[in-house]
Amino acid sequence: TSSEKNDFIRAIVRDDLASQKYSQIVTRFPPEPNGYLHLGHVKSICLNFGLAKEFAGLCNLRFDDTNPDAEDQEFVDNIKDDVKWLGFYWAGEARYASSYFGQLYDWAVKLIKQGDAYVDLQSPEDIRENRGNFGQAGKNSPYRDASVEENLQRFDDMKLGKYGNGEAVLRAKIDMASPNMNMRDPILYRVMHQAHHQTGDDWCIYPMYDYAHPLSDAIEGITHSICTLEFEDHRPFYDWVVDKVGFDKEPHQYEFARLNVNHILTSKRKLKKLVEDDLVSGWDDPRMPTIAGMRRRGYTPEGLRDFCDRVGVSKSDGVVDFGLLEFSIRNSLEHVNRAMAVLSPLKVTITNFDEAVANVETLKKDSVKTKLDNGVLWLTQPKNSHDDSQGTRDIPFTKEIYIDKGDFEITPPEGYKRLSPQNPEIRLRNSYVLKIEEHITDDNGEVVGLTATIDPKTLGNNPEGRKVKGVIHWVSASLGVPAKVRLYEQLFTQEDPAKIDINNLAAEINPNSLREVDAIVEPSLSRVNAGERFQFEREGFFVADSKDYSPEYLVFNRIVTLKDSFKP
Ligand code: ATP
Ligand code: MG
Ligand code: MG
Repeated sequence: TSSEKNDFIRAIVRDDLASQKYSQIVTRFPPEPNGYLHLGHVKSICLNFGLAKEFAGLCNLRFDDTNPDAEDQEFVDNIKDDVKWLGFYWAGEARYASSYFGQLYDWAVKLIKQGDAYVDLQSPEDIRENRGNFGQAGKNSPYRDASVEENLQRFDDMKLGKYGNGEAVLRAKIDMASPNMNMRDPILYRVMHQAHHQTGDDWCIYPMYDYAHPLSDAIEGITHSICTLEFEDHRPFYDWVVDKVGFDKEPHQYEFARLNVNHILTSKRKLKKLVEDDLVSGWDDPRMPTIAGMRRRGYTPEGLRDFCDRVGVSKSDGVVDFGLLEFSIRNSLEHVNRAMAVLSPLKVTITNFDEAVANVETLKKDSVKTKLDNGVLWLTQPKNSHDDSQGTRDIPFTKEIYIDKGDFEITPPEGYKRLSPQNPEIRLRNSYVLKIEEHITDDNGEVVGLTATIDPKTLGNNPEGRKVKGVIHWVSASLGVPAKVRLYEQLFTQEDPAKIDINNLAAEINPNSLREVDAIVEPSLSRVNAGERFQFEREGFFVADSKDYSPEYLVFNRIVTLKDSFKP
């Protein structure tokens, strides 16, 4: 709740509301539709939409689409979808900087008339050269002192397509000696003979982001325009534009530290390269830190929002541990349905199965529901012990079952709590106590099968006269269903994302970032919905893959492991 969050931006908002500077705050989330949103954007979304929600204000979704070169409708649609999935709603319709192009043009004309802007016909190289360097003043353009009439004519010619790309720009007339490079006559408009995804062929000049952004904010009545720290140096120009055009109610820019998470690339450009170079299966590859990828991985919107709350909002850059993200995701999954899946199957033959289950009706505890049918003992269990409304599932128990290879060791390491010749008894989850009799090895000495018995009196009851430690999961061998289970690790073992060499991404990728194993899962898992999440007993949290899962071909993604040493 808002009373718990006490970052500097919320302090500013509280002051502004208390002093009645504003009766209602208006924020905006302004993505450029040139790629998919990533974890960094999640922070900006949670902040901007979160503020509106907490302080009964409004938050606009605005596409900052001033560069038609890299932008696309696909990205627009996907961004909308991702924002909604995160649980946020924008005020009214989505907005586009491009829908203000006419107004922005008129204001550029106004700036020319005021003597605050001029058309520069220098070559791009000369413009760059004459800008000077830090500590060294730039040189005024020979076009800087052209008359208002000349500039109006040239700007009109730019708009009419009389100049080719790079032949003319409109620049603000500020100060070529300013210590702030952003104030050295920044470019307002450039020529770009290129169709736009929203405005088609209407324009061949396009405004620069730094010009369009403050004015879009002003048009929309944005009160708090929040961006990342890199834009701190751009604020004087932001204020200059707003001041020169002139508004009764001026928007203000505030900067916060961008989100950096170790191992995680938060740069659209680099993520795009992974996709273009086919190093991942697409923008929604479950290893990608895009919202699309995290969704497919099984991350929850609640978990991502909780993560952003824990990271908080500050004015100094830092790096957040990836463990915190997994911590938040894991917490949000605590109450998902349970199921059993064996990822590394080892067959166990229960030699006394038929006799042991024959009298199940008389031996079992009242609370245990069973049905014996054709050599299969069906065990009815709740899908979710935290939530009765989820109903029950029937788990088949049969003469042959699979347990996980890791749950039996001939020579167990110290402290090993699972099955071994020295510790032959264990509880099968939801079922009987099992006792190993023999292990079968292949020529290499590897265990390939076990024989065992079950204690018929232990279905729902403690064994008599002894304590059995440990519980393991299992799946029926004859009625279990094959499934592909995808186990994920970090896409990059390199901790510092800045050190990931973008020109050598193939070599940077963790070869273990995706491992697919052939698992056997309980049959109820062939009747679930794509996108449904589970806790596979003792294995972790998993999701039925939203693209590849079907009842005929089961595919699950590991969302996150059950436990980690990470402490927030
Ligand atoms: P990228 O560098 O990945 O392309 P961007 O900032 O250029 O990111 P935009 O689409 O312009 O991408 O970003 C929309 C909003 O999201 C901006 O307000 C931007 O400041 C914010 N944002 C982007 N990355 C981060 C981040 N890592 N942490 C916090 N906010 C971010
Ligand atoms: Mg940007
Ligand atoms: Mg960018």
